[in-house]
Amino acid sequence: MTHSYDPQNIFARILRGEIPNKTVLETPHTLAFHDINPAAPVHVLVVPKGPYVTFDHFAAKASAEEIVDFHRTSAKVCEMMGVVPGEGYRAITNAGKHGMQEVPHYHLHILGGKVLGPLIQR
Ligand code: AMP
Repeated sequence: MTHSYDPQNIFARILRGEIPNKTVLETPHTLAFHDINPAAPVHVLVVPKGPYVTFDHFAAKASAEEIVDFHRTSAKVCEMMGVVPGEGYRAITNAGKHGMQEVPHYHLHILGGKVLGPLIQR
């Protein structure tokens, strides 16, 4: 799986302000916004502002400051969306072909607001 970053991907364009988004929270290193096609009552995407393709790419190459900011922002989003404290949530990330990743910029999906069902179909 490649980590070569496509600067024309849709989240890069959102981060450059070329495409609008419904922002939930923004920090110097991280942007959280509502998914355009929500799969649950709560469906927020958290993206690092740096050019990282996948979770493993981000974990390997981002600075400690970026990594801490990303996770603290994700936790704050859970509180803002009322799933913490609350009835819980699922945080998932897709990577590459087998993960069926659509947008090649690392993002965490935060889903909640209903019982989400099993993790994957067997
Ligand atoms: P993934 O399959 O993990 O790459 O997920 C990509 C997600 O991005 C999907 O849930 C899409 O609905 C969402 N998405 C695509 N374009 C936009 C956009 N312009 N604004 C917000 N969410 C988007």
